[in-house]
Amino acid sequence: MLDQALTRLDEAARHLNLDADVLEKLKYPRETTKVRLMIRMDDGSRKSFMAWRCRYDDTRGPTKGGIRFHPDSTIEEVETLAFWMTFKCAVMNLPYGGGKGAVQVDPHTLSKAEMERLSRAYVQAFSKIIGPDRDIPAPDVYTNSMIMGWMADEYASIVGEATPAVITGKPIALGGSLGREDATARGGFYLVQRLAKELGLEAGARVVIQGFGNAGQHIARLLASDGYKIVAVSDSKGAIHSPTGLDIEKLLAAKKQGSVTSLAGSDGISTLSADDLISVDCDLLVPAALEDMIHKDNAAGVKASVVLELANGPVTPEADEILASRNIVVLPDILANAGGVTVSYFEWVQNRQGYYWPVEDVHARLKSMMEREGDAIWALAQEKGISLRSAAYVHALSRLAGAIEAHGTQQFFTT
Ligand code: NAD
Repeated sequence: MLDQALTRLDEAARHLNLDADVLEKLKYPRETTKVRLMIRMDDGSRKSFMAWRCRYDDTRGPTKGGIRFHPDSTIEEVETLAFWMTFKCAVMNLPYGGGKGAVQVDPHTLSKAEMERLSRAYVQAFSKIIGPDRDIPAPDVYTNSMIMGWMADEYASIVGEATPAVITGKPIALGGSLGREDATARGGFYLVQRLAKELGLEAGARVVIQGFGNAGQHIARLLASDGYKIVAVSDSKGAIHSPTGLDIEKLLAAKKQGSVTSLAGSDGISTLSADDLISVDCDLLVPAALEDMIHKDNAAGVKASVVLELANGPVTPEADEILASRNIVVLPDILANAGGVTVSYFEWVQNRQGYYWPVEDVHARLKSMMEREGDAIWALAQEKGISLRSAAYVHALSRLAGAIEAHGTQQFFTT
């Protein structure tokens, strides 16, 4: 998986005249720590869970990246996600390196109290690795603001002082930022709005969304409010389709009760298989679930003319080539979903200032940063005749290379 991700680095390097030191530094994770967490279950038994934290590269600042709770998480997945975070923070010119963490667990099988004990155990195990100037976690798949709140609380009790800037995506009551909840989707939405004309997306364009969690629900709401028509969505339980458009409020309510699939059978809504969702006739396809969902065996079926990657790594390199050969434009993850880490950065800044911004300021700053980096990447892609993904990597790599060189030639690690 990391090998596949590194092919993007090699490809970007071909467009820049780089010192070999730069690639040597970015080809390997700086450090990955593995711990077996042990917690008490509600029935009195003890259970253990594998957990990791990777600090991939800290050349441009403290490492930054979410914590995922998922039964299929592996060390390789964590290191790959941390590699992507390194490039995403550089794409947005945030003063951060890239990191990521995970616990191998199915959170649906735990009670709320067990989840809290597991979240606190994670912070106890990694308290020497994380820190506001060292490594700053945030939410990712199956983690949320409540979990970030427990983690911030545990860290404060370990170090003996309130340290809100150690974790972002916290509840507002504990120093979270207004506008963080929908920031990932909102960043992607601003990008689509900015490039709509170039991408040929018109009012009433049809949208398919894969994954209906934080990223998927918010992009559905934002696009629907801008006149787009959501024609199909999926979650881990299945997919639904309505060629005339799905009602966004009903979708959100159904998801709150369990799954979007409960809407099937009414209002002309039918069910679909996961692969059929990818090939639903639409203009904009939004993968917002997990990695590798669009692959060599289903990419030929994609009907959309634009893919907005809100998930990390949803399109494999082989599928990327198939989409490119069919002139399907991919708005790449390290730009398209960077709204989340950008508002996490705003949260960290506010925590350090002890001064909190109105939501309008958060939105305005996010919009201007998405447009600034989106425009630069669009122009670079046009100038070099390369894909937006390659342009995003070239854009990030030139910033990373500048920082690596500025650190000096005899240095090994920055912290
Ligand atoms: P989430 O836990 O809130 O939601 C995940 C959703 O995916 C759920 O609806 C789940 O049912 C669905 N899902 C799981 N397996 C699926 C499958 N096989 N098919 C269809 N749906 C499936 O997670 P999220 O925070 O929305 O993250 C989604 C993606 O966005 C991930 O790739 C994550 O890394 C990325 N991302 C999230 C953020 C953030 O701030 N939350 C930021 C950047 C990137």
